[in-house]
Amino acid sequence: MEKWQVGVFTSIDAGLGLPLPVAREIGVRNVQLHAPARSNRTEQNADQTLDQLGEFGIELTAVFGGFAGESYADIPTVARTVGLVPPETRAERLTEMQEISDYAQRLHCSVVALHLGFVPHDTEASLYAEVCEATRSLCDHCSTRGQTLHLETGQESAEGLLQFMSDVDRDNLFINFDPANMILYGTGEPIEALRKVSEFVRSVHCKDANWSDQPGETWGEEVPLGEGQVGMEAYLRTLDEIGYAGPLTIEREIPQEVDRQKSDIGGAVKLLETLREKILVRS
Ligand code: MG
Repeated sequence: MEKWQVGVFTSIDAGLGLPLPVAREIGVRNVQLHAPARSNRTEQNADQTLDQLGEFGIELTAVFGGFAGESYADIPTVARTVGLVPPETRAERLTEMQEISDYAQRLHCSVVALHLGFVPHDTEASLYAEVCEATRSLCDHCSTRGQTLHLETGQESAEGLLQFMSDVDRDNLFINFDPANMILYGTGEPIEALRKVSEFVRSVHCKDANWSDQPGETWGEEVPLGEGQVGMEAYLRTLDEIGYAGPLTIEREIPQEVDRQKSDIGGAVKLLETLREKILVRS
């Protein structure tokens, strides 16, 4: 793939992405896909999706896992409900992530990704060791399928994430960097964080946000790309500096406002293409 090909985050049923036909309409050539709900994660559905991607000429670059019962309503709710951290659902969700890895394999996709949830900060806590073990086990499952596992950023500081990855200690574990999440969750200045975790960044989201007046306590606000406090040109220049050449996957998480989501993403494609030309071609 050409350096920095612009893509978009998509969904079939679950998740906050754009439907695949809309991604085609917008004209992108690669997508990440939120895995469909378990009942739709059938071989038949995988084959249909594969056919549709082929027909649209769209390359699938990552499959994201997500689970029933997760809620992003506010930061404490995320901590309670998201990912492989909550103990009550961990075993079941680990099995489900392994199924999502198998589903991704049927789609010929070698990247599986997820929001792990809020990893405990106390590295001596038993919960921390349990989350490390669950992640290790998922990495090993992905590894047998020739896949890498990418952790979405935001819920941890750059330092916390690096510590966790080092403790998990698997060579197919990488990062899907989302600059807006660092702002939304109040976990750090995104460009600085990107530099710190740079050696592990294998996929990225292009999303923008404004800081909350109580960072880490309440959500920041997600806004159209280029209108927030990430600084898109600085973000792309830093990606260039760290040697990131993969796709630029746009996220705009307002699926309840279909028309606005589509037009904001259309605007984001134009912005990224302009910046890409400015940074890569004219420099
Ligand atoms: Mg994201």
